[in-house]
This record gives sequence, structure tokens and C-alpha cells, in this order.
Amino acid sequence: MSIEVIRDLRGLHSSIARHRHGPLNTAASLAIVPTMGAIHEAHEALVVEAKRNANIVLATIFVNPMQFGENEDLDKYPKSELEDIKRLESKGCDIVYIPENETIYPEDFDLTINVPKLSSVLCGKERKNHFQGVATVVAKLLLQSGADYAIFGEKDYQQLLIIKSLVRDLDIPCQIVPINTVRDSNGLALSSRNQYLNTKQINIANNINMIMNEAAKNFYNLDINETISFVLKKLEKVGIKKIDYVEIRNNNNLKNVTNNDKSNARLFIAVYIDEIRLIDNIKL
Ligand code: AMP
Repeated sequence: MSIEVIRDLRGLHSSIARHRHGPLNTAASLAIVPTMGAIHEAHEALVVEAKRNANIVLATIFVNPMQFGENEDLDKYPKSELEDIKRLESKGCDIVYIPENETIYPEDFDLTINVPKLSSVLCGKERKNHFQGVATVVAKLLLQSGADYAIFGEKDYQQLLIIKSLVRDLDIPCQIVPINTVRDSNGLALSSRNQYLNTKQINIANNINMIMNEAAKNFYNLDINETISFVLKKLEKVGIKKIDYVEIRNNNNLKNVTNNDKSNARLFIAVYIDEIRLIDNIKL
């Protein structure tokens, strides 16, 4: 059966109802894969994981204005709708929901969801309202779809923790399923923004994962500050001039990790290669 493309809420509800009560006439389970489009292999891996968990897979494509800051790349965000739909379909996605702005944020929309502690560090420090935008749109998509499962990537680890937290606190009956970061053969984490990188910039970006792996290997031989200096020095050495952050934080709550208890530690990195911002993280 070919993929169904839906653009409005009523259409979404009837499509899901039809799929849930399909030929077997038993209520089938639904997994949602929220994306901003520009579908690549990592999004495809999310769809594959969704299929492992549920009978019906719903992908969403929505470039959420609420999570972009004033000087960020909202208008320039890559768009490739037809290609995206084909790729999702080829992985067995049943429905793709591509809502208009007004379907998500109608005229009188007046809500923001804030997960303040988890949102105040790392990517939330400089990008003040970014995670409010993410939390609000994800809550809307989960509630609009009534999905039983939602699949997210560890590439955006802070986002994953924020979503887990909001689902828990709002008692949304949806299980959050993470997948590992998908990387290319050089270890570079896949990202829609990688297509902005030229060859020279890719060669620089390829070092990020190597440096993180080295840090992970030496983590128990060095103290926390030594590991951070090691990573900073290496990043600078390979030509990364602007570093947003290099931090080691707890895997579950993003609190600082101390030398006395180095369990559940994760290394988080955000850098700019020229004007292109890349993030990555690794369990230590
Ligand atoms: P995006 O379209 O970039 O907003 O991402 C949509 C989903 O894909 C999110 O759950 C991301 O965490 C996930 N994702 C993006 N890149 C990767 C990657 N390289 N590995 C795993 N998940 C990813």
C-alpha cells in the first residue's frame, strides 16, 4: 500500500482511524517519527525502528518556527518534500503528516511548554527559547496523533531527555523510544545541516567523532577538566575555531559529573565550522 500524505488535522485523525482498524479489525499500534524533513539515512533508521515497535508508522515533516531563534536558518532550512515522501515510503512508512503552520499554531494559539531545568544548559544556554519550541510542538504532535510510540535520535540527546520528561510530567500515554546516533563511514553524525559543508569543512568535521572516541577511551585515566581540555585542544588543532561548548554531564539529568562519581557520564559538543553549527555526543 502506498504512503498517505496528509496536511490537516481532520485528515490525520481519519487516516489514523482507518489504519488502526484495518483488515484484521483489531486496534493496531501507532508509532510517530517527528522530523523537519530533508530526510536522510538517520530519519530512515527512525522509521525502521518505528516499524519494529508498532503496526502503523506515521512520519511528520514540520519545520517548526517556534524553535528557531531570530538569526537562525528557518528560511534557509533545506526543503525536499517529494524526495522526502519517496524515501519515507521506501522504508515502509504508512502516513506522512505535513501540516501547515496554522494547523499547529492556529490564530489564537497561546501555549508554551517549558521544561526549565533540562532546557537551561548545553544547547539551551545560548538558544533561549529553542527547547520551549521543541517541547511545545512535540507535545502537539503526540497529542494530535495519539501515537503509542515516538522515536527520537540520541544525536539530539538533550532534546530526547526533554521529551521524555514532558511525556512523563503530562502523563501522555506514549512510549519514547531512542535510537543510537547514525554516522557516516567517517564517523560524522548525519544531519540535515551536513549538506551545507564543503569538502574542506567535511574533512574538519570528520575529526569530531574521532576526538570524542579518544576522550572516551581515556576518560577513566584523566580527571574531568583534563578530558575537557584534551577535547578543546584537539578540536582547535584540527581547525575548529569557534566552540560553543564541550561539557561532560550526567546521562539521565544533565547535571555536572564529578571526579568522585564518573558513572553515567556523557560528553556533549557543539561547534561551528565557519557558520555551520554541528552537535554531537557520546557515552563515556
Ligand atoms: P530533525 O529532522 O533533524 O529535526 O530530526 C528528526 C529526528 O531525527 C530527531 O529525533 C533527531 O534526533 C533524529 N536524528 C537526526 N539526525 C540523527 C542522527 N544522525 N542519528 C540519529 N538520529 C538522528
